[in-house]
Amino acid sequence: MRLSQLVKERNVVLIVKLDKIIGSGFNGLPQNLESQRRCSYLKESYHEKVTDKTCCVHAEQRAIMDALRKNPDKLSGSRLYFVRLDDCGKPLRAGEPYCTICSKMVLDVGIDEFVLWHEKGICVYDSGEYNLLSFQFG
Ligand SMILES: [Zn+2]
Ligand SMILES: [Zn+2]
Repeated sequence: MRLSQLVKERNVVLIVKLDKIIGSGFNGLPQNLESQRRCSYLKESYHEKVTDKTCCVHAEQRAIMDALRKNPDKLSGSRLYFVRLDDCGKPLRAGEPYCTICSKMVLDVGIDEFVLWHEKGICVYDSGEYNLLSFQFG
């Protein structure tokens, strides 16, 4: 993936409970600080002990923090929708799950289901299943 794509593409997450959005987020730099940007760094340039080699906060993490601030009591039994947008705001199909940071958080915070739009259609994963699949990626 080219750097221009990384910068332009937005991952958007909505957490929904009983048809209401209880939290939302998009991926971006912590506190929007340009000084923290490392998007173009090669993953191989980090020591293996550096657990998360992405510089941006993931949309899932942002949406979970948003829901924890605004609707902490509604997270249990909610559903998380993940959508990737191109620079025109058009939704793109998602790949297979691989982000174990987010899959653990989603499971731990009590979100029931994780929804992705794949080539084969909309897929609803149980959060436990999603976490296991993420670790099995590849
Ligand atoms: Zn980044
Ligand atoms: Zn993630």
